[in-house]
Amino acid sequence: MSNQEKIVVCGAGGFIGGHLLADLRRQGFTNLRGVDKKPFEEWYQKFDDVENMVLDLQEKPACDKAVAGHDIVYNLAADMGGMGFIELNRALCMLSVLINTHLLMAAKEQGIRRFFYASSACVYAADKQTNPDVTALKEEDAYPAQPEDGYGWEKLFSERMCRHFSEDFGLITRVARYHNVYGPFGTYDGGREKAPAAICRKVITAKLSGDHSIEIWGDGHQTRSFQYIDDCVYGSQAILNSKVVTMPINLGSSEMVTINQLVDIVEGIAEIKLDRRYNLKAPKGVNGRNSDNTLIKKLLDWEPSISLREGLEKTYRWIYDEIKAKG
Ligand code: NAD
Repeated sequence: MSNQEKIVVCGAGGFIGGHLLADLRRQGFTNLRGVDKKPFEEWYQKFDDVENMVLDLQEKPACDKAVAGHDIVYNLAADMGGMGFIELNRALCMLSVLINTHLLMAAKEQGIRRFFYASSACVYAADKQTNPDVTALKEEDAYPAQPEDGYGWEKLFSERMCRHFSEDFGLITRVARYHNVYGPFGTYDGGREKAPAAICRKVITAKLSGDHSIEIWGDGHQTRSFQYIDDCVYGSQAILNSKVVTMPINLGSSEMVTINQLVDIVEGIAEIKLDRRYNLKAPKGVNGRNSDNTLIKKLLDWEPSISLREGLEKTYRWIYDEIKAKG
């Protein structure tokens, strides 16, 4: 891809959108636009050499403005968060359907060359994720459909919409199913944070306060894989640019751990041991989830490979500095 290409990142004020823009700048792209609903001061990463627009992309006229004059659209905008948010805000999650629908319509009308949609492992059928010792999820496991209620249904429907805009209107769309992404410059408190950031925050708070205990959601035996942000950013661009990835594809790590093991790693980084309290009433999602990377390895000859330990060290340091700076 030429670095003269005009690229719009929707959700640029968020975690993944901010990192994607940072990476595109590093590669020398100069025609970049970032769009988000949040006031610009609240964006995680702010770049003065990017055209920054504050727009509510649930509105069609805002989507028209967002994509105008551009070639490539990344749709990373969604009302979302960790399990604590998505299990309690299903309607809000489903309203993100307006963002992708209106962006697709605007992209089609304005002749956008390629369109990327950030889907999620939450599209996968719940009955394939009942056991912590889960078989990694393959792309075909999304059907027959039984996704996460609310958030997952919205993702599955929007994936489908991308497919039909391609088939019926010739718009080139690419869909990645992200499995948990973590890293610096993301949410670590306030209710929308995900497990790696939440665990880092809790361990740091325990260390700084001297109260050496930690609350863990669920029994700690639930399994997940966690993908470091750099792999996600690289993989998203590889998927967008691919000629052969035409259907939704997993973008996730296949290094599966229990939540207890995740806590072990963060405790190791912090050089501390905490008393664990398990909150069995807290939202915890499915019992087991991992990414089967057979397809991405076959089509892109690549898969996410940054180790959890390495990624968590960087994430821990960033959250530590943020908490210290806030006092
Ligand atoms: P994020 O919440 O940090 O970023 C999303 C951004 O979208 C936010 O800045 C938010 O203000 C913006 N947004 C929400 N509604 C908007 C609207 N109406 N108009 C304009 N902007 C709006 O989330 P993220 O972690 O960066 O996730 C990016 C995408 O990846 C989302 O679609 C998310 O569902 C998907 N995803 C993320 C993960 C993960 O682990 N982070 C996993 C699976 C899928």
